[in-house]
Formats: sequence, structure tokens, C-alpha cells
Amino acid sequence: MIKFENVEKWFGSHQVLAGVSGEVNRGEVTVVLGPSGSGKSTLIRTITRLEPIQRGRIFVGDVDVASREVNINRLRQRIGFVFQAYNLFPHLTALGNITLGLERLRRIPRTEAKERGVRELARVGLADKADALPAKLSGGQRQRVAIARALALDPEIMLFDEPTSALDPEKVGGVLHVMKALAKSGMTMIVVTHEIGFAREVADTVWFMDGGKIAESGAPRIVLNTPEHPRLKRFLARGG
Ligand code: ATP
Ligand code: MG
Repeated sequence: MIKFENVEKWFGSHQVLAGVSGEVNRGEVTVVLGPSGSGKSTLIRTITRLEPIQRGRIFVGDVDVASREVNINRLRQRIGFVFQAYNLFPHLTALGNITLGLERLRRIPRTEAKERGVRELARVGLADKADALPAKLSGGQRQRVAIARALALDPEIMLFDEPTSALDPEKVGGVLHVMKALAKSGMTMIVVTHEIGFAREVADTVWFMDGGKIAESGAPRIVLNTPEHPRLKRFLARGG
């Protein structure tokens, strides 16, 4: 479903992806771990060409992402993205934040957009918050609205970049719970996170990135229980 082949990227003279190869199969969850600056965010941003690459190839299904012929908007429509800082519109309600994209990007009529929005809010456990403005929601609730907003657009793939890092510890569980349910439903996901417990429980594959490379990869019970790479050992000893 998603394939990286020897992907290299530089910011100026600084190489941040140094030959990444790996594959995420349909319906599988890949968790990306690694120290700050190892290239995790950059890697997942290359999938929708938010970051262009200089070498190698990336495929989403049979679409060659870096190719000039790619309709990038169509590609982006297939992929939902949830970032660390939920960027909800502050002047719109939870429901309004979801219906905006459905009406503007997908040209879905208002009544239908609202129905879909209500359904997605229920799925993330926020059926009763449809009319709340973001300022009246907790960080965890806002992040769940951001997930509902992405899901309402019916993506084939969901990418998460440290979705719980900005949350108070007691709000993390609710967001992870929603992500677990999504994984169980068969969504293809790449999740950058420091939540080792989530990786253990939900990931099909773990990638440990270091210095712009996947330094170690495999099933979580192997990678996390018997790490080989010294930096991964240290990373796990520190708790992620
Ligand atoms: P973190 O855990 O802190 O989020 P990360 O693994 O996601 O780190 P990236 O954000 O992918 O790391 O950054 C990888 C490297 O690329 C870092 O050295 C960073 O400073 C550099 N970098 C990222 N974005 C840019 C940019 N727009 N311009 C220049 N350098 C950048
Ligand atoms: Mg990052």
C-alpha cells in the first residue's frame, strides 16, 4: 500500500533521510519510533509530498508520488493526516470543523455533511460535543475532533505525527483508544509516537529511525523486547 525505496532527502546540505526503504501493507499499522531529529516527521510528510524527496521512490498503491504526472490533490484526498497540534478553526464548532471540508472540498450537501459529521463525532466518543467551540473542549477532545475530521473525508490511509505529545497525561488514553479502534477496523496507518505501549499493543511493524535511516524494524514483540541497535536499547531504557 505504501512503499519507500531508498528515499533520500536533504534540507540544503543537511541529509535528513539517508536511504529509507520499507513497506506498509494494506490494513496494517506501522509505528515509527526514534529520537528527536531522526527524520520521522519528514518521512511521513514525504508520502503526500508535503516534503519533496531528492532520491529514491515512494509508492502509494501504484501511484509514484514523486512523479510529475501525479495529481497531488487526488493523492492527498486518499490520505488523512493528524498532527501534534490539532489545528481546528477556533470560530467553528466541533461539527462545523468537520463539515467545512466535506462541503468545500468534497461538495457534499450540508444536510449530508452534517449527518456524516455527527456519525464521525460519535465514533470518537464526542456525540454530545457537536455544538461546542474548540475553546470549550479539552486538548484530548480537540485531538479527537481532528481525527473525526480526517475520517469524515473517508481516507484509505491515516498518518499520525505524535498525536498525543501535546496532551496532558490523563488525556492521552482517550485519543489512543480511538486510534486502537481505528486500527482494529482495518485502517492502514503510520503512527509516529513515543507511546511504546501503543506500539506493543497495536503495531504490526515497528520502525526505529536513527540518523535518517530505519535502523531496526520488525514485529513489536521482537524489536521492543530484544532490541539489537544500541541506540534503540538506550531509547527504550529511557521510556521512549
Ligand atoms: P521530533 O521527534 O523532534 O519531531 P523528527 O524525528 O520528527 O523529530 P524531523 O522533524 O523529521 O525529525 O527532522 C529531521 C531533521 O531535519 C532535523 O535535523 C531537523 O532539524 C531537520 N529539518 C526538519 N524540517 C526542516 C526544514 N523545514 N528546514 C531545514 N531543516 C529541517
Ligand atoms: Mg517530528
